[in-house]
Amino acid sequence: MRIAVLGGGIVGVTSAYALAQDGHEVVVVDRQPLAANETSFSNAGMVAPGHAYTWASPRAPKILLKSLWRDDTSLRFRFSTDPRLYAWSLRFLRECNAASAARNTANKLRLCLFSQAQLQETVSRTGIEFDRVTGGAVYLYRDPALFEAGVRNTRVLTDLGLELRALDPQRAAEVEPALDSVKGQLAGAIYSPSDESGDCHVFANKLAAIAAGMGVEFRWSTTILRIEASGDRIEKVLTDKGEVAADAYVMALGSYAPIEARKLGVNLPIYPVKGYALTLDVEGRNGAPMLSGVDEQNLVAWSRLGRRLRLTATAEFAGYDTSHEPSDFAHMLKVARQLFPEAADFDRPSYWAGLRPMTPKGTPILGQARHRNLWFNTGLGHMGWTMSHGTARVTADMIAGRKPEVDLKGLTFADA
Ligand SMILES: Cc1cc2nc3c(=O)[nH]c(=O)nc-3n(C[C@H](O)[C@H](O)[C@H](O)COP(=O)(O)OP(=O)(O)OC[C@H]3O[C@@H](n4cnc5c(N)ncnc54)[C@H](O)[C@@H]3O)c2cc1C
Repeated sequence: MRIAVLGGGIVGVTSAYALAQDGHEVVVVDRQPLAANETSFSNAGMVAPGHAYTWASPRAPKILLKSLWRDDTSLRFRFSTDPRLYAWSLRFLRECNAASAARNTANKLRLCLFSQAQLQETVSRTGIEFDRVTGGAVYLYRDPALFEAGVRNTRVLTDLGLELRALDPQRAAEVEPALDSVKGQLAGAIYSPSDESGDCHVFANKLAAIAAGMGVEFRWSTTILRIEASGDRIEKVLTDKGEVAADAYVMALGSYAPIEARKLGVNLPIYPVKGYALTLDVEGRNGAPMLSGVDEQNLVAWSRLGRRLRLTATAEFAGYDTSHEPSDFAHMLKVARQLFPEAADFDRPSYWAGLRPMTPKGTPILGQARHRNLWFNTGLGHMGWTMSHGTARVTADMIAGRKPEVDLKGLTFADA
């Protein structure tokens, strides 16, 4: 079959690779000059089933309310005239009860674990190098009550078979020696031994090169203008560089999927949630962490990417705006200096912002809506690097009419 994959972020590239493995003729269309150049460009790099919790939780409404009248460093909700923001927020709030949070997290964890296994298989088959670090991730708590609550909360993941260990500060500093100088400020840490990290942008471009070698055609710098449908079929895609026609289409447009889907009469509950990333050079320095992690009090994530240390933070509702100012990174920089004081060249940071394609439930949207030859692989939210290898395999299985190996409960268009 000839299949057009719309979007060449991590989700589009992994989809193209999975489809090429199945023997399809694949063409990928993306407006960027290379793979993973939008949201997949500078994420925290964590492949982290150990952090598969959904954002919609019983605590979330209180955090959201507080952020409305207080300058919050981790959550910024700006009132806007966009009715879609309020429609999305209402759906999000409906998921903020204990039962939904546990169900959505369980669905997400299942997919994360399946996806990590797919990633590991791809890495052993291709030998791709992407500044990968295996050996776990550490989730740090500074407040004893929050640490206790965090440990209690792990039940939702450990009940499904994931190993998570509660560590006292001394033990946390043994697992990640870069924490030695701050262990006195920690209440404890949760260690997820099977989590890992690596550079999503590097991985996507290397996988795209391998896919090209398998015959996948990449049309970079090509903007999709309109998707044309007739009845329940997609006929073709109009771009600024001509038409693309195929037997089947995969929509992997990240935060932009709802815009294109809406024109086809399909409503995808995805809203862009802006995040910020800071990358620091650690070459020639001491004390940079090897394991990735999250400072749960400051909600700052980090990972070691070779000679670089990447930190990310903030969930901001600002529509499709990706602009940023140095002041947006001040909090992150302060946390980085505090956690790893000698680790990096803090005077020459590089800044970036991107849009997470978030669904209210935190789970992606897979499968079909109203068109027989259009599959969605989008809405991977704040964990798209972790889940993309799995959603790509699921999408290829669905197109082939095979039963996916992972249970799709809660992950399809019908469940969104
Ligand atoms: C700050 C931050 C930190 C994160 N940290 C992590 C993490 O540690 N671990 C993790 O698992 N995930 C993380 N994520 C989430 C992850 O980065 C995303 O879920 C993932 O990158 C989404 O991939 P995507 O392919 O769906 O979207 P994208 O990478 O945005 O790809 C969509 C593609 O569609 C193309 N496109 C859109 N519209 C058009 C058009 N009209 N014509 C042509 N092309 C078009 C774009 O050019 C783009 O390349 C983080 C995200 C952010 C913002």
